[in-house]
Amino acid sequence: MRFAINLKPGSTNGGRMDYHQCSLWKNVSSNDWYDWEWQLRNRIVRHNELSQIINLSPSEEAGVMAGHNRMPMAITPYFASLMDPVDPNCSIRRQVIPQQEELNISSYDLVDPCGEEKDSPVQGIVHRYPDRVLLLVTDRCAAYCRYCTRRRIVGAHEDIATGSKLDAAISYIEKNKKIRDCLISGGDPLLLPDDQLEAILTRLRKIPHLEMIRIGTRAPVTLPFRITEKLVSILKKFHPLYLSIHFTHPKEITPDVQKACNMLADAGIPLGSQTVLLKNINDKAQTMKKLLHELLKMRVRPYYLYQCDLAMGTEHFRTSVMTGVSIIEKLRGYTSGYAIPSFVIDAPGGGGKIPINPNYVLSNVKDKFVLRNFQNKIYEYYEPQAEQQVAVREKEGVLVG
Ligand SMILES: *Cc1c(COP(=O)(O)O)cnc(C)c1O
Repeated sequence: MRFAINLKPGSTNGGRMDYHQCSLWKNVSSNDWYDWEWQLRNRIVRHNELSQIINLSPSEEAGVMAGHNRMPMAITPYFASLMDPVDPNCSIRRQVIPQQEELNISSYDLVDPCGEEKDSPVQGIVHRYPDRVLLLVTDRCAAYCRYCTRRRIVGAHEDIATGSKLDAAISYIEKNKKIRDCLISGGDPLLLPDDQLEAILTRLRKIPHLEMIRIGTRAPVTLPFRITEKLVSILKKFHPLYLSIHFTHPKEITPDVQKACNMLADAGIPLGSQTVLLKNINDKAQTMKKLLHELLKMRVRPYYLYQCDLAMGTEHFRTSVMTGVSIIEKLRGYTSGYAIPSFVIDAPGGGGKIPINPNYVLSNVKDKFVLRNFQNKIYEYYEPQAEQQVAVREKEGVLVG
């Protein structure tokens, strides 16, 4: 056994370790540990660091060793400390450690799974929907998720958000008066230094037709110490500013993450979550429900549950679509409506997010709807007669135009 840590399986909080127990970090001061920049400088990027934290499985060995010419591996010490040192099926390990399967390319895999390039009028902008855009400001993340939909661009360490590229992207938003919502993404926008992020937000806020700004981030989960008083005081100047946080598994909800989310929520920032449905990680209704409940307790409103995109080398993460539908079915009626995200497929090739729902409408003939409830009991609903007549005439083409 090569464990660098003196742990028995299951002897800790879900396999989570106290960082001092790991030889790699035994001399790290708490000042350093809780410093987000120290965390970034000391990310786990090599096999010989990882092998001091966990006992790598053969599949992980192969994945890590083959990794260089693909999306890089990087794991913050904080996130790595959540890994179970002995269980390769650990939800944290599976998310950030390349496995052998990542080398397999399925015939359905796509380099640009959601067809973002063709909807990109200028570098750094994806404009698919009439009234809102994505603004990609960096290709860096604190940790690289092995199922990343943007693996074609992340981790290359090319700045997107600087100089003339940023000017062109912002000027695109300025010129398009229909854009009322800008979603800053990447990479992870919260990896930018405070001043750079503030500069971008300041420029966006000056655009009169931009009603709201959103930031898509995973930092509160993989690098919760990024949420500093300073950062929060910057963000709250730009309301209405929303944050969409990428969560995957209840094991991610630690006291550090709870603190980060509380700080953000206390600053009046509406928090939403985005979760990718992942095979053998969060594809059990019980696991998902636990996550969703933990999110609500932190004032994070579940927003989207994504069917895993067809990104290169990610087939081993994909479940069937029906798995997702059945999870939603097991939530609706059984838990708070607030806990239930929209289950969507981001259409391959670029059609946007398409909601996939359990079917509760059994039939609709004329004014009569036959519905089932969450317990499969049957109910009838009748539409108003007047509406019904309009709908019929519309169908017959009488009122067209
Ligand atoms: C997801 C996404 C958005 C935001 O969509 P919402 O449904 O409003 O959250 C905007 N543009 C692109 C290209 C997207 O992929």
